[in-house]
Amino acid sequence: MAKDEYYDQLETMTPDARERYHNKKLTETVENAYKNAPAAIELLDRIGVNPSQIRTLKDLEKLPVTRKTDLIDMQKASPPYGGLLAIPPQDVERVFLSPGPVYEPIQHSGIQWFAKSFWAAGFRKGDVVINTFTYHMSPAGILFHEAIRDCGATAIPMGTGHTAIQVKTMLDLGVTGFVGTPSFLMSVIKQAEDMGYDFKKDFVIKHAWFTGEMLAPSIRETLESDYGIDTRQAYAVTEPGGAIAYECYCKNGMHFMDEYILEIVDPETGKQLPPGETGEIVITPIHNKTWGLIRFGTGDLSSYNTDACPCGRTAHRLTGMVGRASDAVKVRGMFVIARQAEGVLSSFGEITRYQLVVSRQQHRDKITLLLEPKDTEIDKKKLCDVINGRFQDTCRLKIDRFEFVAGGTVPEDREVIDDQRTWE
Ligand SMILES: [Zn+2]
Repeated sequence: MAKDEYYDQLETMTPDARERYHNKKLTETVENAYKNAPAAIELLDRIGVNPSQIRTLKDLEKLPVTRKTDLIDMQKASPPYGGLLAIPPQDVERVFLSPGPVYEPIQHSGIQWFAKSFWAAGFRKGDVVINTFTYHMSPAGILFHEAIRDCGATAIPMGTGHTAIQVKTMLDLGVTGFVGTPSFLMSVIKQAEDMGYDFKKDFVIKHAWFTGEMLAPSIRETLESDYGIDTRQAYAVTEPGGAIAYECYCKNGMHFMDEYILEIVDPETGKQLPPGETGEIVITPIHNKTWGLIRFGTGDLSSYNTDACPCGRTAHRLTGMVGRASDAVKVRGMFVIARQAEGVLSSFGEITRYQLVVSRQQHRDKITLLLEPKDTEIDKKKLCDVINGRFQDTCRLKIDRFEFVAGGTVPEDREVIDDQRTWE
């Protein structure tokens, strides 16, 4: 594959240069927050940490993780920004609202880095791009719009819904790029086909940039093979200020943006986890003097990869979202994520219902799988071996015991994982 073009030089820093750069930016960020944001001052003073003690990625572990629910409480107690505003209020250029509500003040200056992810998706001058994210309240509409412009492309502020109008606009204006969710693009294509068009022949969409929901491999395959649309995903989070990680043409994970420090941590302890281990994504914006938010816990679970990427970008990569921290149960030090477990177990036609039960015996966590077989005459041993192999491949843990139960034992509205451990 040809060498990619980069949007800025940060994307190809050496590991040493990146570490120095992050440390410098982090130091400035923490000092600025401690000087100007009352909530940051309160937090550091409360835990007895001086800003000079936070100079490196590892130092961040000294600070607690702030989550969305904390932000809601902080803003209720100290309206409107929860003491996190680190600039004079009259310098706030925009305020976005996310559910909660959480108010997010921003200054436009310095958010040009969002464009990196659109650039990596191939958007350039001459492209005509529809942005189908909402322009109301949430940052996605206007910030992505500006990032499309920063790449030189023409941006159409479509917003969500109105699929028939989207179809007509795409056709009339010769739209070459789509920004939105994968499912919405599929609806637009379906609408076009219902209106009698041959999407691949009549439309000229070549690039799609997605965020906000996972891109299922089957949908990616359909969009790329059947419709000739090159797809890219990005990971964006509203509260810490936007687009955090993005895919290059290798589509093998999402490169971290150097405008944030991204940690993968154990959600219970806040301690950083090594590459390959699943944990919560925690973000510290280091290019944002507006908002004194340090270590924001997204609640999203992922892992990261440090292998060299053929595209030449040197930042680590997020290896995809695997679920929400609230759906995960920690067993023998590893997270079992309900959705992942369900993905494995529901693929076996031989079983009608199932449930994972986590218990604790002699100080060891134990996983039992309750199974209701469709046919009681099956080779149970063989089935258990196959299930365990697939379960270990995906969840990286072994099921300790299989229990075949009569039909109707596992309730229909059961949780996939029943955590029966008590910790008294
Ligand atoms: Zn890459």
